[in-house]
Amino acid sequence: MSLFHELEEMGHERVLICSNPEVGLKAIIAVHSTVLGPGLGGVRMWPYASFDEALRDVLRLSRGMTYKAAAAGLNLGGGKAVIIADPKKDKSEALFRCFGQYVQSLGGLYITAEDVGIDVQDCEVVLTETRWVTGVSEAHGGSGDPSPVTAYGVLQGMKAAAKRKWNGSLEGRSVAIQGLGSVGMWLASYLREENAGKIFGCDIDGDATAEAAAEHGVEIVSPDDIYDVDCDIFAPCALGAILNDDTVPRLKCSVVAGAANNQLDNEERHAKELAGKGILYAPDFVINAGGLINVYNELAGSYNRDRALLMTRTIYLKLMRVFELAEQEGITTAVAADRVAEERIQEIKALGTRQWGTMIHRNGRN
Ligand code: NAD
Repeated sequence: MSLFHELEEMGHERVLICSNPEVGLKAIIAVHSTVLGPGLGGVRMWPYASFDEALRDVLRLSRGMTYKAAAAGLNLGGGKAVIIADPKKDKSEALFRCFGQYVQSLGGLYITAEDVGIDVQDCEVVLTETRWVTGVSEAHGGSGDPSPVTAYGVLQGMKAAAKRKWNGSLEGRSVAIQGLGSVGMWLASYLREENAGKIFGCDIDGDATAEAAAEHGVEIVSPDDIYDVDCDIFAPCALGAILNDDTVPRLKCSVVAGAANNQLDNEERHAKELAGKGILYAPDFVINAGGLINVYNELAGSYNRDRALLMTRTIYLKLMRVFELAEQEGITTAVAADRVAEERIQEIKALGTRQWGTMIHRNGRN
């Protein structure tokens, strides 16, 4: 019964258990909300220790997608899928095609994409069985790697934070980037174009740090020391839950603005602690929506990178609204971001209509 209680609490519309022992598929698809549109969210492949662990992850992640799409102003709901398997040894064509058949069975209520452990090639196998997949390569009419667009969105969010905090630009502002992977590296290059001040960075991958130092003049610090760097902006671009009891007291920045998902270990407490230290926190699901905006453009017709970038620039305004609401209401920016998303969902729900089918029919891949 606790599962039903959990579903009721979180408000999921549909959860599909997918099992095919012949191809080794054990997966769960969770559709949290389709009020604003089809539930879009990537599929994660991970060797979860138990079914419960996988279920908890997919329920939490799919709800997160609902909030991200709503706050970004997109006509998308929230969904996510997990495949319980090891991406290093369990991938096969049959497994991904079987997963695609399950996605197809939902008739467009859920649209899948890449997530941890899944790459463009895997999505293209899924595409054999269903058109409800995004993030495929440009050769297949897709939008390709979302990371540059995500980084561009983070840059817009940093600009909003700089305006709010210092009534200025990013020029001369020092930034510490945690994680110099796909998004972090692009972010470093965009910050250089903005004439930002010193850029510090760290990664556990030596090739990434060498490239960042050589190409973008990033001053490398150890992964353990990144929290102690005296800088204007701290940009988490690696892992979740990195704003926690150990790290928040160490921060010397004035702004936290980065791409990583679920940055706050405890959403309520750590958002309050950041605010208490006078640190302006840019809520993760608002500032990192560039990747979602990118795949949304793929769905809405022939993909156009310039249009995706233009839409991504609205992250500036979305964050400004969150910052203003937080101040007006005396709440944290994290709570304000939730409220913006929830208000939009409630307003559209009250309309009682579902016109989002028109958007899907414009998808060329029938
Ligand atoms: P990525 O895997 O390309 O890069 C992450 C980098 O972090 C890697 O280089 C890795 O070595 C490094 N790293 C891992 N642990 C670390 C540690 N302890 N200290 C320092 N560095 C560490 O991933 P990405 O696509 O750049 O995404 C970065 C973050 O942004 C992730 O949390 C992801 O969920 C989130 N995000 C990405 C996108 C996107 O479009 N790629 C969109 C939204 C959110």
